[in-house]
Amino acid sequence: MTRLILHPGKERSVMRRHPWLFEGAVARLDGRARPGDTVSVVSHEGRALGRAAYSPRSQIRARMWTFDAQETIDDAFFKRRIAACVARRAALPELRGQGEAGGLRLIHGESDGLPGIIADRYADTVVLALTSAGAEKWRNAVVGALLKASGCARIYERSDSDVRALEGLAPVSGVLHGHPIDAPLVIAEHGLRLEVDVEAGHKTGYYLDQRENRRLCGALAAGRSVLNCFCYTGGFSLQALAGGAREVLSIDSSGPALAGAQRNLALNPQLDSARAQWLEADVFAALRELRAAGRRFDLIVLDPPKFAPSAAHAERAARAYKDINLLGFRLLNPGGLLMSYSCSGGVGPELFQKIVAGAASDAGVDARILRRLGAGADHPVGLAFPEGEYLKGLLCQAA
Ligand code: SAH
Repeated sequence: MTRLILHPGKERSVMRRHPWLFEGAVARLDGRARPGDTVSVVSHEGRALGRAAYSPRSQIRARMWTFDAQETIDDAFFKRRIAACVARRAALPELRGQGEAGGLRLIHGESDGLPGIIADRYADTVVLALTSAGAEKWRNAVVGALLKASGCARIYERSDSDVRALEGLAPVSGVLHGHPIDAPLVIAEHGLRLEVDVEAGHKTGYYLDQRENRRLCGALAAGRSVLNCFCYTGGFSLQALAGGAREVLSIDSSGPALAGAQRNLALNPQLDSARAQWLEADVFAALRELRAAGRRFDLIVLDPPKFAPSAAHAERAARAYKDINLLGFRLLNPGGLLMSYSCSGGVGPELFQKIVAGAASDAGVDARILRRLGAGADHPVGLAFPEGEYLKGLLCQAA
């Protein structure tokens, strides 16, 4: 097997089980390798450290499949790893049974030992996203293993995220196994029904990482006036209505997302649709208008898109987070709650907290953190892979 030889000292992060090898760590390739091929990773002194997928086009030059230098990367490897991912989730009481009628992330990439592979289950369909050359090479093995481990009838591919371009991969989507999608998929989430558009929706169709936070929103909403910013297909809004919110105003700039939200509301006739208002607008502008109109809310959700995909964008992103959080605090009634999130890998938890603190202070609001929030247990964070902790949230209360 082709050997990828590291520069002196560069074996340290691999020995701590970090899955990425950057371009600068690689001294040379001893042999030939095409994109996605498995290479043996070797320290400068010749010590075999494990096996990785080679990505010649990416700054992340190789992604570790295994830290066991003897382990073979073949169909059986993916069967073992994927069966283990599914079994870990089935063993957690909070996740057990979640995928059968609902939504559950089955494979969370690096943090599940499968770099570049994301798999989300929506009832009987698994949506697969492959984002690295190595993952791309093993598509058939992954599909076979997922079918077996999940028992699902259909696998749909949504490998169309921008990060594929960094690996020199073109976007791919479509059915990989099972029948074409002829009717919208419907999942259950905390007692509500939601349509998931796996063909054209964002990411794999839905934001499963916020599932537990949507539950919390419902639990906090009773009797409150709620403002849900960046509402997508209305997940937080519907939980707020179900939780007894007095009124819910939801804002998103995407017409198709809001149309999906309306369909979701119609799927749950027990909810009082008269309490829901939907606004297609830019949140930055809409919050200013609400402020100018003298509006106030008891519970505000801010769940913006990724403003900083990497640390290089952190400064501009910080200004955007500051802006919406400042406006959010200004729109809160005394005693009101702010659920504020960042899903930017480039903004860490400490920086995010600083930004929110700065926003409260500039708004002249005395506030405290009631809870730190994150993704659910189906989005684990590898202890050796802190980059996996992309979603962070704060539940704050104003005095
Ligand atoms: N909270 C949602 C997920 C939000 S994803 C859930 O639980 O499902 C972020 C959303 O922000 C997307 O729906 C996107 O359309 C919207 N968006 C992005 N930029 C925006 C802007 N400037 N103003 C309003 N909405 C925006």
